[in-house]
Parts: sequence; structure tokens; C-alpha cells
Amino acid sequence: MKKTLLLLSLVAAPALAGEGKWTPQQVLELDPAWLRGQGLQVPPKKLWDPQRGTGLLAGAVNVGGCTGAFISSTGLVITNHHCAFGVIQEHSTPQRDLLTQGFLASERKDELPGKGARVQVPRSFTDVTSQVLGAVPAGADDAVRFKAIERKQKELVAECEKRPATRCQVATFDGGVNYTLVESVELVDVRLVYAPPRGVGEYGGEEDNWMWPRHTGDFAIVRAYSAPDGSSAAYSEKNVPYKAEFFFPLATEGVKPGDFVMVLGYPGRTYRALLAEEMAERQSRLYPRMRDVYGEAIRILEEEGEKDAAGKIAVASVLKGLHNVNKNAGGQLAGLKRGNIVEKQRQAEAEVAAWVAKKGASAKGAAAWASAVKAREELLAEQQATTKSFEREFLLGAVARLARGPAVAVTLSRLAAQRALPDMERRPEYMEREHVRIKDRLEREQKNVFLPAEKRLVTAYVRRAQALGADERIAAVDKHFGKVFSEKDVAAKVDAMYASTQVLTLAERMKMVTETVAQLEARKDPLLAFGLDLAKELEALDDTLDRRQGMGSRLRPEWRKAVLAHAGKPVAPDANGTLRVTFAKVQGYSPRDGAVYTPQTTLAGMMAKATGEEPFIVPERVSKVAEAKRYGAWMDRKLKDVPVNFLADADTTGGNSGSPTVNGKGQLVGVNFDRVWENVANDFGYNPDVARNVNVDVRYVLWMLDQVENADALLKELGVRKSSPVAGETR
Ligand code: ASP
Repeated sequence: MKKTLLLLSLVAAPALAGEGKWTPQQVLELDPAWLRGQGLQVPPKKLWDPQRGTGLLAGAVNVGGCTGAFISSTGLVITNHHCAFGVIQEHSTPQRDLLTQGFLASERKDELPGKGARVQVPRSFTDVTSQVLGAVPAGADDAVRFKAIERKQKELVAECEKRPATRCQVATFDGGVNYTLVESVELVDVRLVYAPPRGVGEYGGEEDNWMWPRHTGDFAIVRAYSAPDGSSAAYSEKNVPYKAEFFFPLATEGVKPGDFVMVLGYPGRTYRALLAEEMAERQSRLYPRMRDVYGEAIRILEEEGEKDAAGKIAVASVLKGLHNVNKNAGGQLAGLKRGNIVEKQRQAEAEVAAWVAKKGASAKGAAAWASAVKAREELLAEQQATTKSFEREFLLGAVARLARGPAVAVTLSRLAAQRALPDMERRPEYMEREHVRIKDRLEREQKNVFLPAEKRLVTAYVRRAQALGADERIAAVDKHFGKVFSEKDVAAKVDAMYASTQVLTLAERMKMVTETVAQLEARKDPLLAFGLDLAKELEALDDTLDRRQGMGSRLRPEWRKAVLAHAGKPVAPDANGTLRVTFAKVQGYSPRDGAVYTPQTTLAGMMAKATGEEPFIVPERVSKVAEAKRYGAWMDRKLKDVPVNFLADADTTGGNSGSPTVNGKGQLVGVNFDRVWENVANDFGYNPDVARNVNVDVRYVLWMLDQVENADALLKELGVRKSSPVAGETR
């Protein structure tokens, strides 16, 4: 049933040591001697057993856009502070501000349940390529093709989710060379055990984000619970800690430069398989436009937040997200240019095309290879054609990221429209299985609303939309705000809209969640009316994108098969949110001519950076211990200090946040939380000179728990007082 994931069955070493986000199945295609040589001490089969479809890699769990890792047989999961942010925020009040102070549950009964917090533990991976492709009717056009593939995926997911507490997805690899059904157990009782104060978890804030040197304790610990019989269950006092089959004991001795490490997790999206011209489009249009639009939104949120203390808290979360993507876009641009990535991709494509031409002249597969070249040409033509609609599409798509009012109104409108359809005919994101999540999200949005900022964001949006060319109009904007921008006029209309809307009133909004389009229309709510109109345009845009995706699913695999065959060895597919592992070494790098960065930072470095002003305020209970040099057992003998963060050349991206960084024995030596600035554009290509991920050193975690927090019970549970067992297995 569980077949190998890729068509390649070669046993080989990859081109560059750190390169590759390998799928579990691919680990067994890599040369075991090479892996041993790198520093892997457990047999590759222990990482992944294809017979059972599981292994140590399954100790890395999906925690909703981030990664986490089991670190005990009693359900303890370590992840990033920024990944547990929502749960910490949920339990914070001005009187008991857990975000600022941090939190430690002294006993199990004190742990704090996280609304909507979930942990997905992978259970199996099944190749469903032939079933998915077999569902496409002969002669289907691209739109029909897309629908047929999507339908099959939904059916497979529905069948898979008949098992209780199961969450499934069909993941696409290499644009459709392979489709894999991923089945996970979903644990829904997840409770906060420990969070450091924000001054540790977010030390350096936005200024240090995507940077090195770094001194951030970006970690938090939660615990997953199950029913007494081990099955997943909603929160109940009767629940017991989940018994994870695989976990990563903490390696109390930590790491040193040159050590082998692996980073396991759920990288979200990368673009290495894009054609050079598609990369160029992101470089010349997408990232600059993101900088422009998000940069403006950031300025507005910051200015308005400064005027009002409660407003500052309200905008904090959206602002954090915008800063993160905005700075990331800047890093992509800098890296694409510095690494000459588009040009390199052009050359690589030319090499494949030349290889294909040579093959075509002689080999019997000539027809297949010829179709690869034609597929590439067709993809290029489509890409050319779509640039015309770029500005409109970008702006329509940005609705969800900017002002909360229109974003929420659009979600309500689309949900209502989609609910009129039978479940299997809805868009996947609005199917019944998503409703709890949508509801949670719509409820949580309440915290993010700050009217003065909202209104300015909408006005700025309208101004941009009204400036679009004649053939790129956003009809909803024209209808509700007119075609020509006038600051006074638009601001007055926005004021009127917000004065009478009920979309931002929690109780009313939660009623709207179950209403039909007709009921929503009958409310005659002006913001909702704007949302209903925007939703129609977004629906039409999604149809266009579906057709494009249908085309991609037809053409891209043709081209990718040629690229993979030309490579002649395993090539890790682009990230797609599924479980991957990368093999790496602890090492520094040179960010520019004449400068070399060492791979470790220390408490002394953290204190040296402290200015007493945000974002460099070390909480007093931490600085006291650091200044007294009370290192406990966590000092690194060479550094003569407690290591705080370290670098490795692991191949990571967004979504790898919270990934366990483990040594050759499968013990946890750190928690991944970022990449360095020079490495942001690794999404387009791996560059061994600057490919560095940033990790919290496990000894900093232990120092915090031991010397700062006196978290004895937790430390005992983590087994760090005794010598750590080798790669943990419970059963
Ligand atoms: N900081 C990133 C995240 O939030 C991790 C990365 O992109 O390397 O997922």
C-alpha cells in the first residue's frame, strides 16, 4: 500500500551536503554510507520504516502552520514561542499578563487549554498518483481537469477521515509528478505548560528577525492530551497525557561547531522548481508590490497604535505578521539579486533543454522528452499572459491580510455562498471539515480590531484600487466608493460603513456564520454588502486560478520529469507543508567580504545587547541570573557561557518554525526558529555559502527552566537529571 514516493529508485548522495528537504521515503533512497559519514548514528530505517509507514521522523508534529516535537513519552511538545503565541495571548489579561511575564504550570492541573490549538501526528503516507490522475476524463480541458483532480482529492480525504480523529490531505509533489495521501491523528486537547517571558521569547523583536547574531529564546512547551484509552478527545479533566510513540529526549550536552544535526518538520512552500521567468516575475512584480502595500499598512498600524494603548495591543498580532512577510519579501529580493538566482535557473533550464535535444535525437523516449520542452514553452506563454492581470489579482488577494472588516465580511460571504452547495462541491477551504476552524478564526478576530487603523487601511486600499487601469477594475470598490479617489469622499464613506456595520460585533458576527447569502443581504449592512461584492470577484478569480492550476498539473510534471531524469539522482521536491528532514552541520558563515560570523551566541552576548529599551529588554529575573553567571550544568566549556542560539546549514523555510533540531542519535539539541537574512531567498535555490538556519540551543532552554524558573517537576519529567536515553520510543 505504501509505495515509495518518487519514481527514482537510485541510492545516491545529494549534490550538496545540506541541500534538500527530503521526504521520509526519500531518506531510504539516500546512500546509507553517506548518511553515516555525515553523522547519522541511527539506521536510516529507524528514521523511517516504509513497512510501517512511520518512524522517528513522526516525532515531529504539525502544530498549525508551525512544527513541534514530542520531547517526552508524556505528551510534552516543544515548539516556538511565536507558534504558541495565540494560546499565550488567549490567557493573558492586563492583570495576569502571561505574554509579558511568561507562564509555568507548576502542576498538570494548572496547564492552560488552548482554544483551537491542535497537534497532528503523522500516521501514514500513501502514493495515490494513479488514482488522482486516473480521475481525469479523456479530452478534459484545464478547468475540467482541475475539478476532476480536486474532486478525487476530496474523495480520498473523505474516505481517509472516516477514521475517528483523523486529518488527511492529498499533497502534490513536483507540480503533480506525484500525489500522496497523508494521514494524521489530530489531537485537540493541547495545553500550555511553559512560555518564557516575551523579553526572552521575542528578544530582539522585529529588529533581529531574519538576522544573525541572535539571542532569542523562541521556544514554548505544550502538552497534548488524549482520552484514557489513547484516542483523541476534546478537552476533559478525565483526559491523560498523550503517549507519543516517538519522541526526542533532550541532549543535555548540546552541540558544538562541526556537529551533525537534522532538522525535521513541515516546511510550507518553496519555489525552486519554478521556471526562471516565473521566478523573475516574483522578483520584478510580486515582492516589490508586497513591500509597497504591506509597508504602507505597517506604517498605518504603527502610527495608529502609538496613539492608543489598547489599540497597540489590538494591532500587535496583524502587525507582527505583516512585518514578518514584509521583511521576508525584502530578503527575497536581496537574495535573488545577490545569488543571481534567476540567471542560474535560466542556465539550468538551458542545460536540461540541450540534454533533452541530444536524447531526443537518439533515444526511444524522444516523444516524451519533446513533450517536456513543449510543456515548458506552454507554461512560459501562460506566464506572459497572466502578467497583465497581476495588479488586480494581487490587490484582490491582499484583502485577507489588511483591514479586518473587509477580510471578515469576505469570509462570511464566501462561507454563505459555499454552504448553499453540497459539501463535496464546495471549495476545499469552505467544506464542513473546516467550519470549526473558520468559526474559531472569526471569533479570535475580535481581538485584532482597532477602528482608527481599520478605517485608514480601507481608505488606503480604495485609493490603490481606484488607481488601477480601465481593464483591471475591482468592481466592488467602484460600486461602493466610486471610480475616482477623493480623500474626503472616501473617508466619509468608510466612516459611514463602519458606523452602521455589525460585522465587527462579536455576537452578531457569530450569528452571521450560519446565515445564507439572502439573509446576509437582507441585513443591509454596508460592510457586509461590500464583502458580498468582493466575494463574487474573488470567486471568479479563484475559477481563473483553478484553470491555471489545471494547466500546471498537466504541463509541469512533463517538464519536471525531464529535469529529474537529467539530475540522475534523488532531488528533494519543493516544500508543500508535508513532513521533511534536512541533514546539516553546525557552522557559521561569511555574510559579506571581510566578515565572518561564528555559529554560537551566549548569555554574555544577550546581556551586551540589552539597551533597556524595546526590543532589547532582558526581564529582570533572567538578567539577574545571567549577570551572576549562575550557569548550572548548562555552560559550554569552550564558550565558558551558556549558548543561546546556534546556526546550522539546514535547508529550511517558513513552517519549519518550531522544528526539532536533533543530533545523530535522535536527541534534541535545539529548536529551529528562523533563517539568516542572506538565506531568505533559499526558497528559490540552496546556496551552501549562506544557507543557515537559526536554532535555540537546548542548553538555553534547560538553563531557563532550571536556573531561572526552578521548573523542577518539568525537568524531572524531561529526564534531564539522568542521562538521556537514545532516541525515544514508548512502545
Ligand atoms: N521564521 C520562520 C517561520 O516563522 C522560519 C523560517 O522562515 O525560516 O516559519
